[in-house]
Formats: sequence, structure tokens, C-alpha cells
Amino acid sequence: MELKTFGVVGAGQMGNGIAQVAAMSGMQVIMNDIKDEFVQRGLKNITNILSRNVDKGKMSAEEKDAILGRIKTSVQIKDMAAADYVVEAATENEPIKLQIFRDLDAACAPDVILATNTSSIPIGRIAAQTKRPEKVIGMHFMNPVPVMKLVEVIRGLRTSDETFKVTWDLSLKFGKTPAEANDFPGFISNRVLMPMINEAVYAVYHGVGKPEDIDTVMRLGMNHPMGPLALADLIGLDTCLAIMEVLHNGFCDSKYRPCPLLRKYVEAGWLGRKSGRGFYAY
Ligand code: NAD
Repeated sequence: MELKTFGVVGAGQMGNGIAQVAAMSGMQVIMNDIKDEFVQRGLKNITNILSRNVDKGKMSAEEKDAILGRIKTSVQIKDMAAADYVVEAATENEPIKLQIFRDLDAACAPDVILATNTSSIPIGRIAAQTKRPEKVIGMHFMNPVPVMKLVEVIRGLRTSDETFKVTWDLSLKFGKTPAEANDFPGFISNRVLMPMINEAVYAVYHGVGKPEDIDTVMRLGMNHPMGPLALADLIGLDTCLAIMEVLHNGFCDSKYRPCPLLRKYVEAGWLGRKSGRGFYAY
């Protein structure tokens, strides 16, 4: 079946990026969030990025209008009934995601694949909320979505080969390079990345170095394009903490314990770039 309409649940920094690349690939898009102001914020972000592309001569004003014209907004999950493929990119909170999958399972036709952009919640656990576990898969985009090439495609225990192939091919259609991972806490990307970020936070906590110095060491010494603390601010400190908790609980191994300083920042509302303050001020 040709996939024509792509649904995105959650219009935050990841969701609006996913909606943008889907619309740029020529698909019709339905972008959903819980409140209209959140969907409009997502749409504004897409508009700003596309306008910058027009200013730089990377696309015409007509192309920009056509892309925006393919994006419909929604504040009710039942609107996903019109989608041929759905990606959930809502807040990294397990009860929220499990409820969304129960709602999507009720709203969407039985042959529709339901993917999740979760950074860390087990695909199998999400799939078990539905009557179609063979059609549930991880489609894990990187931030910022329009720029980053990787999509980690994560097979749950019960994900079918067909679901995997459709998702792999969709990643290619979006101009991305997919990589295959199996369903263990953190998959590949966050299994490796988050303990490094958490260790950088411990280095601040223990007074080993200031954030600027830690990031300079990792950028210039290890050739990373961004330091781990600047990256944590970009990802969102709440998301980083949630992922560390998934690794900690999933492996029951103290080597994954979240740094108390990370928790303290999140509790104080210092979430990184999105709140204007994290390890750096924005
Ligand atoms: P975000 O906070 O920017 O956006 C989350 C959005 O989900 C918000 O707009 C919120 O209103 C919405 N939402 C919450 N409950 C909802 C519901 N029931 N229905 C519809 N929308 C709902 O977060 P984000 O950074 O975009 O992260 C979204 C997902 O992407 C998370 O699972 C996260 O782990 C994953 N992810 C994030 C990054 C990153 O770098 N930030 C990278 C890869 C994957």
C-alpha cells in the first residue's frame, strides 16, 4: 500500500522536525499535540526554518508554501484515523506514551504501523498496549531532525519483518540513513551517548571542571562536534534524566545512576535550551 498520509503525535522539538521532513518528502502530514498553542508553536518553528532556507536560496517561496500546505494540525488523537503511518513523538514519559498507544490502536485502521520516537522506553512494552504488536516499531530520529541523517530503526521482539521494511524504506524516503537496533534499554544511540553525558554532569558536580572546560576537552581533544553538556542542553535535561532512569531501571546496574546534579537542574526547571537555562544560559 502506498503511504500518503503521515501522522505525528507531539509537536515539540522532535515532532515538528519529523513533520517537516515528512512534508518535504511529499507526504500529507497531520501534526497533533494536546493544545493548539503547542501545535502552532511547532508550525511556527517549521515556518521559520523553511523561511531561512528560502532566504539562503535553498528553496523557492512556492516550495515552502507547498510544504506548509501539506501539514494539517490536530488536537485530537482521533484525527490520526486519517493517517497511513503514525509516529509518536510526545514527551518521554512512560504513562503518557502507553496511553497514546492505546488511543492510537483504537483510532487507526488495523493495518497502520504505529512507530515511536522514544529515546529509551522499551518498544515491546509500548507494543503490548496494542492489539497489533507486530506493527509497532521504534523510529528514532536525531535532533535537529531536518539536519541529522540518522534514523535508528528498532525492532521489538514481536515487530514483523514487513513493519521493519516499511519503516526502513520510509527513513530513506525522508532522505535519512537508517541503522538497525534491537530492543534493549537505550537501544544503540542512548546506551552509548547518555552515560557519557551523565559522566560529564558528574564532572561538573565533583568540580573536576566548569561546563565550558569539559565541553572544550571533548570537542578539541576527542573531536566531538559538540561538547556533552551543550548537547545535553540541546536534547533537554528532562529527556536526559528520563533516559538515564530507563537505563538504570532496565539494567538494575548502578553504573547508570543519574547524577544528582542533573536531577536538581530538572527539578528547578533548568531544562536546557528549551527553557532558556541548563548548563549554559540562552
Ligand atoms: P518536547 O518536550 O519538545 O515535545 C514533546 C511534546 O509532546 C510537547 O509539545 C507536549 O505537549 C506533547 N505531548 C505530551 N503529551 C501528549 C499527548 N498525550 N498527545 C500529544 N502530544 C503530547 O520533547 P522532544 O524533545 O520533542 O521529545 C519527544 C520525544 O522524542 C521523546 O520521546 C524523546 O525521548 C524523543 N527524542 C528526543 C530527542 C531530543 O534530542 N530532544 C532526540 C531523539 C528522540
